[in-house]
Amino acid sequence: MDTPTQADPFAEARRRMVREQVAARGIADARLLAAFERVPRHLFVDAASWGEAYEDHPLPIGYGQTISQPYIVALMTSLLSLMGDERVLEVGTGSGYQAAILAELAREVHTIEYRPELAARAAATLARLGYERVHVHTGDGTLGWPAAAPFDAVLVAAAAPRVPPPLLEQLVDGGRLVMPVGDRRLQYLEVWEKIGETLQNQVIIPVVFVPLRGAHGV
Ligand code: SAH
Repeated sequence: MDTPTQADPFAEARRRMVREQVAARGIADARLLAAFERVPRHLFVDAASWGEAYEDHPLPIGYGQTISQPYIVALMTSLLSLMGDERVLEVGTGSGYQAAILAELAREVHTIEYRPELAARAAATLARLGYERVHVHTGDGTLGWPAAAPFDAVLVAAAAPRVPPPLLEQLVDGGRLVMPVGDRRLQYLEVWEKIGETLQNQVIIPVVFVPLRGAHGV
């Protein structure tokens, strides 16, 4: 979080990633771009992948899982329109990278990971980097996290044919959820907004994510 940039050999690669992959594709929010310049993406993957950490593609994080391409992480984050005071739920912690980005832009982040080994590793990485406002939980994220609900924003980092109903129930009035919705081969990024008793949804772009497991998953 407060690592001096001159000591970080990846600072220039990270600036280039933000410029060429995120800003050049139309994401203009200065707070969001600054968050992507701060979070050391390489430290969320094995040292063997450091050389590729700022490239324009997803990265393996073990157990057949991946961190999305930087642009997709940025697009999903931007669709939540975070102003700084929100409490956010993420489903699918994986490496913890997306959770760190969310913590740079919101007040409190709860993130749930199905696989205990990934949860433990992400929690250790986030703690080492000083992300005290991220709470990592192990469990089935399709049930949400009732103990900390409701949330101003929910981000689901794995795909299913339907948005799990508990996640919509745990949104505040005016809250937003972003998730890849579809079958195993192809999904569309969807944004849901709760307005009083109604839910509005919008389809953004086609994407490919790993499957969401669990009670309301596949
Ligand atoms: N956001 C992550 C990448 C997520 S990959 C990052 O920044 O690194 C998708 C993750 O969702 C995988 O780690 C997978 O184990 C997890 N997952 C799948 N189904 C889940 C569920 N029902 N609850 C919580 N996590 C789940």
